[in-house]
Amino acid sequence: MNASLTPDQTKVEQVKLLIDGQWVESKTSEWRDVVNPATQQVLARVPFATAEEVDAAIAAGQRAFKTWRDTPIGARMRIMLKLQALIREHSKRIAVVLSAEQGKTIADAEGDIFRGLEVVEHACSIGSLQMGEFAENVAGGVDTYTLRQPIGVCAGITPFNFPAMIPLWMFPMAIVCGNTFVLKPSEQDPLSTMMLVELAMEAGVPAGVLNVVHGGKQVVDALCTHTDIKAISFVGSTEVGTHVYNLAGQHGKRVQSMMGAKNHAVVLPDANRTQTLNALVGAGFGAAGQRCMATSVAVLVGKAREWLPELKELAANLKVNAGSEPGTDVGPLISKRAKERVLGLIESGIKEGAKLELDGRDVSVPGYEQGNFVGPTLFSGVTTDMQIYTQEIFGPVLVVLEVDTLDEAIALVNRNPFGNGTGLFTQSGAAARKFQNEIDVGQVGINIPIPVPVPFFSFTGSRGSKLGDLGPYGKQVVQFYTQTKTVTSRWFDDDSVNDGVNTTISLR
Ligand code: NAD
Repeated sequence: MNASLTPDQTKVEQVKLLIDGQWVESKTSEWRDVVNPATQQVLARVPFATAEEVDAAIAAGQRAFKTWRDTPIGARMRIMLKLQALIREHSKRIAVVLSAEQGKTIADAEGDIFRGLEVVEHACSIGSLQMGEFAENVAGGVDTYTLRQPIGVCAGITPFNFPAMIPLWMFPMAIVCGNTFVLKPSEQDPLSTMMLVELAMEAGVPAGVLNVVHGGKQVVDALCTHTDIKAISFVGSTEVGTHVYNLAGQHGKRVQSMMGAKNHAVVLPDANRTQTLNALVGAGFGAAGQRCMATSVAVLVGKAREWLPELKELAANLKVNAGSEPGTDVGPLISKRAKERVLGLIESGIKEGAKLELDGRDVSVPGYEQGNFVGPTLFSGVTTDMQIYTQEIFGPVLVVLEVDTLDEAIALVNRNPFGNGTGLFTQSGAAARKFQNEIDVGQVGINIPIPVPVPFFSFTGSRGSKLGDLGPYGKQVVQFYTQTKTVTSRWFDDDSVNDGVNTTISLR
């Protein structure tokens, strides 16, 4: 039994809050069901925490910060070493829950956990990551050095689509740097996140260092405006991310906001045909298109236009089913609302004149008739003014545009306001070099469909997909979660020479 759930078999489990090391049953009157998107079975109920509960979580973080900030770096690091071992040990168990609440396949759920685990592994290198710099003799007998000090209570707000990876982008790096943390998981699928939080407590994270509150706008706004929160990491939609960035920024906080996307894959006719088509289909329809780095636009250049029938055939062969069923390629969308939105956008594509090559609207999955399924959907003849191009669909819908040259493709991608990820498929090194140089998108894949960097680098989405300078994980997040203090020092011997009063700004 999960410590974060109420162990009462007679009613649906209630997700707990974590405040000051205690699993707390919320006193709120506002609850939301956590629903299996393939079956509509209610898995648990999640509270929308009260203002007092949010305050209590932040106060616990503030108290714990006093001692945690000075806890030796080796002690913090060893907790991360333990946490990575525990995540590895429990990954299969967590993947089953993650698949049930989110809908993705078990293999993809394991991938979600693994990509987060890699960040925890990287957190184990904090000894060298958090080192300062030192310059000797910046003036006579004067040295200057920098300290990277933690900043206080930080908060993280996470989306539904990666309930393991994205919380693990945030709290391990924040706390290993010496901060304390308040996590606000997605209210749509908080169960696997809570299992990871439990493991963190088991690994030895002290009371108050990691706290969890659940909820929606009210809780998020409370975190963004509370005086004692120093930094906010947000991942989610552009609309909410912009709101969070502005609100938290107005209240003097550091903010990093990773938001929506429209990721283009540019295909040159010299690319390896089989590998490219496999990549487009996997990245377009995997996780039912609910990845911020999903390929949502294919740009076929020149003769690569002729690959469309093959693309359609491969997509049509994908198996739509519950994520828990073996052999599933495409699981359900997270909610009925998400499904309605995707169906509405498909409708708009037809109305605006795109050609519906493959229609996933009427898919029926035996045994899961109530599931929020949409099958792989492919549009050709798409133009840049259509809603299916201008909006993030966040479903298994791939839109195909055609251009004559690589230059045109680059200009097309650069005109799109989003900048999360893009890919080029080619066998030409010169074309790849030109693309990586001229493309204005933060994460570029060369024959790689989902170029999410490993954690020794940072997640570097750009332009409309990101607000704030520093991205999640890697070296950038160490900068985000610490402040630099510069110390300039001189030490005198008892018999040092008296060099008089210096009334200038110069050091000598
Ligand atoms: P969302 O914006 O609806 O929710 C994200 C978080 O914000 C949740 O915790 C939610 O409770 C909270 N929230 C929702 N409405 C709010 C409001 N009005 N005010 C304050 N907080 C609110 O996003 P989602 O649907 O959970 O996730 C999908 C989105 O996340 C997609 O747009 C996807 O591209 C994006 N995403 C981006 C990245 C990235 O790194 N750029 C990664 C994953 C997901």
